[in-house]
Amino acid sequence: MTTSSPSPNSTPAPAAPERNMHFIRQIIADDLRTGKHGGTVTTRFPPEPNGYLHIGHAKAICLDFGMALENNGTCHLRMDDTNPVKEDIEYTESIKEDVRWLGFDWGEHFYHASDYFEQMYDLACDLIREGKAYVCELTSAQWTDYRGIPTQPGKESPWRNRTPAENLDLFQRMRAGEFPDGAKVLRAKIDMASPNLHMRDPVLYRILHAPHPHAGDKWCIYPMYDYAHPIEDAIEKITHSLCTLEFEVHRPLYDWVIQNCHLFPSRQIEFARLSLTYTVMSKRKLLELVQNNLVNGWDDPRLPTLSGLRRRGVPPAAIRDFCERVGITKYDSLTDVALLDHCIRDHLNRTAPRTMAVLDPLRVIIENPADLPPAITGTRNPEDPDAGERTIPISPELLIEREDFSENPPPKYFRLSPGATVRIRNAGFLTCTSTEKDANGNLTAVRATFTPMDAKLKVKATIHWVSAAHAKPVQVRLYDRLFTIPEPDADKDTDFKTHLNPHSLQTITAHVEPDLLNAQSGDTFQFERLGYFTADPDSQPNAPVFNRTTPLKDSWKPA
Ligand code: ATP
Ligand code: MG
Repeated sequence: MTTSSPSPNSTPAPAAPERNMHFIRQIIADDLRTGKHGGTVTTRFPPEPNGYLHIGHAKAICLDFGMALENNGTCHLRMDDTNPVKEDIEYTESIKEDVRWLGFDWGEHFYHASDYFEQMYDLACDLIREGKAYVCELTSAQWTDYRGIPTQPGKESPWRNRTPAENLDLFQRMRAGEFPDGAKVLRAKIDMASPNLHMRDPVLYRILHAPHPHAGDKWCIYPMYDYAHPIEDAIEKITHSLCTLEFEVHRPLYDWVIQNCHLFPSRQIEFARLSLTYTVMSKRKLLELVQNNLVNGWDDPRLPTLSGLRRRGVPPAAIRDFCERVGITKYDSLTDVALLDHCIRDHLNRTAPRTMAVLDPLRVIIENPADLPPAITGTRNPEDPDAGERTIPISPELLIEREDFSENPPPKYFRLSPGATVRIRNAGFLTCTSTEKDANGNLTAVRATFTPMDAKLKVKATIHWVSAAHAKPVQVRLYDRLFTIPEPDADKDTDFKTHLNPHSLQTITAHVEPDLLNAQSGDTFQFERLGYFTADPDSQPNAPVFNRTTPLKDSWKPA
């Protein structure tokens, strides 16, 4: 709160971004022009239900659903649940809720990869019959040796030339549960000399005696991602299968599966993942924070999870706008979290009603109460002509921010100080006449005279206030960045948790305009000069709890 201008809202927004013609829009436009896939666009968002979605997933969701929406196409929501061990139904429900909240609709197109297990199995049997897959019994120790390194060819497995009949029999017995975990795998027969390690006879199936959260206890062999994903895409006739750059080296295998299983020609296209400063995005690290109670659950407002952002009060439209501004490229980069904050302020500035709250109160005693107007009105939102006005109670004792008074003001301090005059928001002017102190010399109150607004005094600063007689105490949670450095997990030799910001949550009691007691969970307000605050689900009737969604300005400094 060092600013002196009245109600400094967000920094001016850059012009709304033109729809940026990124390379994926270009590919789709070209495909539509040439009539590929009969002019249809079908995409999918395929999360693995093993964690909560985060803002990185939002980038993928906005792209997958966005490309379909822009082209009258369809986007499927598919649980990519090929690994039974880490997956859970709890995650599936949270994923659906988050995608819906972001504003996207999959209609009837909700799928589970595990529903295709039977088809995947049949296709594997076909590959075996065609001599393109074999059951291998190398141990994991031998495996590394046989696979080789990129600059030298690998060695062929001694099991590579089994007959199709023998392979089929073994594979059927793998399915029947005759072998323990790890005893055998099914491998594609491709090229042990390929410079791409993923093409050196990759594993298609492994034995895993574990029940599946969706498929039940039907299976004890499970397909690998690289085999399963192209089949899932092809079954659903996905035209453009969009994924992050780390899958680029897997693309030859994706194409191999499509070709050799004679499937619908889905095309994989890779783009750069989103990385954001001052946070971590890996599911493993998020889980670590949650499980060690370093944050309060998956929806802690300090996390980059969509449920955390929602609880913090971030509007979904701000996230969509952010994703569009970040853009889609082919190179990895780091996005400044300040851009996200900017998008949040930009949206809330237009929609959030204004109110006044004092976080760290100092009493002001008005010496001429007879000059106070009976009531004061303030605009609910200067950005929204339809928002109307609110009545603000006033009384001879006000609360102002302690930081808005200085007994010995430094140069250029324009707020309240002995003898100085300041504008008080919506009401008029205060001129400080004296101070009151306790026996220890601590400031307990400021005395001031009031001048009504129409006096139009020339002053350089406006401060906010609440009426002491009317103000209501409410709990406010001041959230800050979760980490103290921009890239907490960049250094692989240091535990990212050592960079946690010990001051990332401060809980205080604020004094607010009495109307604010009616706030319902999810309602967002601009506390004038302070920032945007959203009522938390922990709110009770007449006892809201507020989360700071974002300060008004990007004034953050490491504590
Ligand atoms: P895991 O480490 O478990 O594989 P993941 O973050 O890749 O985690 P998925 O559930 O596989 O999680 O992700 C679903 C989709 O979201 C994938 O298509 C993935 O490429 C995309 N995605 C994940 N993280 C990001 C990110 N940071 N930026 C953009 N897209 C992402
Ligand atoms: Mg993944």
